[in-house]
Amino acid sequence: MIPITEYAGRDVAVYGLGRTGLAAAKALRAGNARVHAWDDNEETRARAEAAGITLSDLNKRDWQSFAALILSPGIPYRFPQPHRLVRLAQMTNVPVVGDMELFARAVQSLPERARPKVIGITGTNGKSTTTALIGHILKECGMDARVGGNIGTGVLDMAPLHANAVYVLELSSYQLDLVRNLHCDVSVMLNISPDHLDRHGSMKGYIDAKRRIFLNQQPGDTAVISVDDTITQTLAMDLSTRGGVRVSQVSAEFALGRGVSAVDGKLYDSLLGNAVRVGSFEDTPTLPGRHNHQNAAAAYAACRALGLEPGRIFAAMQTFPGLVHRMEQVGEIDGVRFVNDSKATNAQAAEQALRAYSSVYWIAGGKAKEEGIAPLSPYFGRVAKAYLIGEAADAFAEAMEGHAAYEVSGTLQAAVMQAYEDARASGDENPVVLLSPACASFDQFKDFEARGDAFRDIVEDIGGNALVSVMRETG
Ligand code: ADP
Repeated sequence: MIPITEYAGRDVAVYGLGRTGLAAAKALRAGNARVHAWDDNEETRARAEAAGITLSDLNKRDWQSFAALILSPGIPYRFPQPHRLVRLAQMTNVPVVGDMELFARAVQSLPERARPKVIGITGTNGKSTTTALIGHILKECGMDARVGGNIGTGVLDMAPLHANAVYVLELSSYQLDLVRNLHCDVSVMLNISPDHLDRHGSMKGYIDAKRRIFLNQQPGDTAVISVDDTITQTLAMDLSTRGGVRVSQVSAEFALGRGVSAVDGKLYDSLLGNAVRVGSFEDTPTLPGRHNHQNAAAAYAACRALGLEPGRIFAAMQTFPGLVHRMEQVGEIDGVRFVNDSKATNAQAAEQALRAYSSVYWIAGGKAKEEGIAPLSPYFGRVAKAYLIGEAADAFAEAMEGHAAYEVSGTLQAAVMQAYEDARASGDENPVVLLSPACASFDQFKDFEARGDAFRDIVEDIGGNALVSVMRETG
């Protein structure tokens, strides 16, 4: 844990007691603040109490006495409208602070030579993969890399600050919305497409939140920016013309004159001008698809910014274990492959999976995002049949009408069973049953992990049953 001493001896409100809120409450307590922790959800409160947090109903406290409100990133700060406790804080001039900001200030309060390095990673898609990949490469290269933030361990739950450590932090737009003092030695911006617009008011609000990752970067720092969409292209241009920070451009679309490019299945480094071939993606099996090549190119550029050798970086990429729920192959039965891409919660993420396979038995649906699946229509030709689940099923059926075969399966269980039957009977060469829902999971599951785990369990059951019937047939 990283103790937060900034509020020692003072009263601090902590609202939202999920993973980050709990970590913040503990870190503040360890730094001798008087913590007033609350969550509206009874179950969450009970879990917090079981974890040793003393509860205090923030609706009934005197807000004049609070030095800060520590707000969980999941709670609306500005849009669609500020949560009532945020309004209460604003009315009583209590500053609203996020966990990432507490971390940033704790780093800043150290003398310069004692500060760890910070690599921040953001973007609409690919954050977790790139964060985990950078962490893996740094560890393989013998560095004290600590991976967390929006992935795995909440930032204040990470090991205490140490001058030789490198904090590799996944940063969501919600977290970035609440930072003022975060300083990334290396920032990574992967891509930007519409997402979470309800929480940021507009596309501009979303981009403004994302670009806060560059906020306090100085000469000597590096901004790694993938320039494969027009928004990140503009950001890269703005930063380059402003000067100060070094901009390393990355692309999985074009061979860049200066930067890092992933083209024709190979990784090229032209950061210093001459393009040098670093390696072939044939040797990095856990990073399939153009999108992962974008992540790999960005991770490579970030590690180069820390001074690591190209050969060592690429060798480490080859041993990357990959992440679960992201195009994760969970089984193969009777020649049918099952791929769990539950983390594909929007159309852009699902597009990557649809592009990767040619005969797809596609399970999609859940709680739809604003754009639905219309942006995926160029890939409907790859869909042998779609199996639609959850709230979005009817709307998705309409979008697919006349483009590809589909059925409304309703539940994941029904969808997997039917998709498997159809794929097996198809005679297709390499059929894939793909869960890549292009939707959030909350209508039917606790989160995308629960959805992916359920998919894996169903596949394991099918595998078990298939084995039993083979054994019966062979006596
Ligand atoms: P995030 O943490 O930003 O949600 P993940 O690495 O968890 O990103 O990947 C989420 C989903 O997005 C997966 O379905 C994956 O296939 C897809 N994806 C991963 N990287 C990219 C990328 N660079 N561009 C577009 N989609 C991506």
